[in-house]
Amino acid sequence: MEIFTDSTDKAITSSELIAFAEDSGLKDVHLIEASLFVDVPADAKSILIGFMPYTWNKKASLGRMPLSGYYPVSNKGHDIIRSIGRFLISAGVYSEPNRTVPEKLIASHCGGTFGLNSLYYHPEYGSAVFIATLFTGVEPEKGFRPKKAELNPLCSNCGKCRKSCPVQALDDKDIKEVCLRAHMFKKPLSAEYARHIYQLMGCEVCQTVCPLNSSVPFDSDYSFDIMTLFKDRSELAQMIGRNYARKTIVLQQVIAYAANTGFKGCIDEVEALKYDPMLKPVCDYYLSLV
Ligand code: SF4
Ligand code: SF4
Repeated sequence: MEIFTDSTDKAITSSELIAFAEDSGLKDVHLIEASLFVDVPADAKSILIGFMPYTWNKKASLGRMPLSGYYPVSNKGHDIIRSIGRFLISAGVYSEPNRTVPEKLIASHCGGTFGLNSLYYHPEYGSAVFIATLFTGVEPEKGFRPKKAELNPLCSNCGKCRKSCPVQALDDKDIKEVCLRAHMFKKPLSAEYARHIYQLMGCEVCQTVCPLNSSVPFDSDYSFDIMTLFKDRSELAQMIGRNYARKTIVLQQVIAYAANTGFKGCIDEVEALKYDPMLKPVCDYYLSLV
């Protein structure tokens, strides 16, 4: 695990760190006492949390594939967290990436609510938000009163997220096992899941139908030319990070989306890939439709 420094110098105050994090691009930043959580490193005195809102993507024209607005924002958010870590190092203050405490759990101390879809809803940004966190050796923010998030009362008479989920993940006990967001990163992507792919990276159906997100606009404008994605994914990798932009992960989603939108321009590319065992199910799905 990457540990930025093990020094416990107290050169930085909570207000200075919060101001630095806000100047870096995080919103509604807090430094919460680390002892409120289990699985926290011994040197951590506080957990920094900050939010980055995103918006839903616009539809793309035929031959282009929209990208979820979440991934470019989360990629930027990870860069910001790394730069805050470096800022603390340069001041000789302990800092370590958080890989043990769920972000939603930390966010639940900042007010807001949870939805029936299991997501955290920020009081201002709704669920369309990237949650950035970092263990730090800085003293917690004075005067911060944790406000524990609970299930939103609107959920008891709504259920729109549950009804709209294309794979009934919210009827199941283990959402993560069934949710499309998990399956689109598994190899190979099955035809059963391929038919629900409507954008590159992620599914936000249960969030876009939610009345708690009514103020989130459909104005995210990231989209990619399908034919380019077969040959060159460097622009995408720069935008969302190399890990998400791996060849098979991207191509299985692209081929599924091309099938679902009736895009015939990539038949030759799909024919050439249909013997790849990881892409075979989605290629067969495409060729059966187009
Ligand atoms: S869609 Fe309805 S039930 Fe689902 S999280 Fe939103 S308010 Fe709650
Ligand atoms: S993200 Fe998509 S697949 Fe997952 S629970 Fe929500 S609507 Fe269902």
